[in-house]
Amino acid sequence: MFNVLSAYAGDPILSMQLAYRDDARPEKTNLSIGLYYDDQGRIPRLNSVQQARERVLRSTDPSMYLPMSGNPAYCKASQVLVFGADAPALHEGRIATIQTVGGSGALKVGADVLRKFFPGSQARISDPSWDNHRAILEGAGFVVETYPYFNRDTQRLDFDRMVADLKALQQETVVLFHPSCHNPTGADLSQAQWDQVVDIVVSRRLIAFLDMAYQGFGDGLDDDAYLVRALVRANASFLVANSYSKTFSLYGERCGSLSMVCANADEAGRALGQMQQAVRRNYSSPPAFGASLVETVLNDAELAALWRSELAEMRTRIQTMRSRLYEGLCVQQPDVDWAFLMAQKGMFGYAPVLAQHMMRLRNEHAVYIIESGRICVAGLNDANVDRVAHAFAAVLK
Ligand code: PMP
Repeated sequence: MFNVLSAYAGDPILSMQLAYRDDARPEKTNLSIGLYYDDQGRIPRLNSVQQARERVLRSTDPSMYLPMSGNPAYCKASQVLVFGADAPALHEGRIATIQTVGGSGALKVGADVLRKFFPGSQARISDPSWDNHRAILEGAGFVVETYPYFNRDTQRLDFDRMVADLKALQQETVVLFHPSCHNPTGADLSQAQWDQVVDIVVSRRLIAFLDMAYQGFGDGLDDDAYLVRALVRANASFLVANSYSKTFSLYGERCGSLSMVCANADEAGRALGQMQQAVRRNYSSPPAFGASLVETVLNDAELAALWRSELAEMRTRIQTMRSRLYEGLCVQQPDVDWAFLMAQKGMFGYAPVLAQHMMRLRNEHAVYIIESGRICVAGLNDANVDRVAHAFAAVLK
């Protein structure tokens, strides 16, 4: 019966984790997967989240199903974080938000809803983008093409070509944007550049689908959400997926949310209903525990302040490691212009120049990066950054 099933090639990033785990060299360094590590090379347990966990575990309530749309207090807190507490659209009731199974679940539910009501639309993702964007959108039935984003020669954003391409898209094309900390390139748009994109989205009637998986890892919680806020100001109708996996260090709890920003409250009511139906058909309702942790932190002034300071610490550590890597590379390879690294934001550094050396980095230096040349800067620390700079220089010689 099932011999018709073809083999799944697996996810190359996840497969690499197994090779890394089995590598016996003590100096091994994992810069492949998008995880935030602390200076000791550990996945942190945030104090704010720990305190919330203690409170939640004290509860003797039974574990009941959540509604299809998830924990209401969590959805409200997510709206405030994503859109800002004083967003008029929130008070007008025209934003519908559900709790989702991580950021990935938000992308899937959003893609299902869009596909159902815009069956003639194509989808566009940046070139390059997080691999799962294509997989999720195609899985929902979309034909997926790319828009120009990154120039591999200059190692920087290719804004002019991006804009020209967006201007030529058919109305109601679904366009996926990374509001900040672009994965994999770390090359972000400036606020003035986002303003131009917003004008195009509105005038061309494109359907913007924002994937915000790293809010607060770039310049800060509000700055990183600039595109969200600008689209709201422009009265656009759009979607936002967000994720707490990295910012709360809660990878396994699968916490995210999906919001649909609508023209009015009546439309938002129907958007909520359609998201609920998509959830019901996929997994019925989201898990409760992780959302209760996030909600407890965000809805308690003291814990929220503590979390913001822990987030700022993670952001600063990434920036420091980026500078240290840059300085190390400038010393080792003074004839290469590494300035592009410093122009990038968030967890990733993108150095296509290293892509072809991936296997040598792994075999000769125990440094793991992925095929595209993406480096997880958050995997660097005081103990390994100089050695990594040396390894990069050695393979590039
Ligand atoms: N979007 C992007 C750009 C990501 O990098 C990730 C995580 N790697 C996600 C979405 C998915 O987030 P989650 O793990 O919460 O599903």
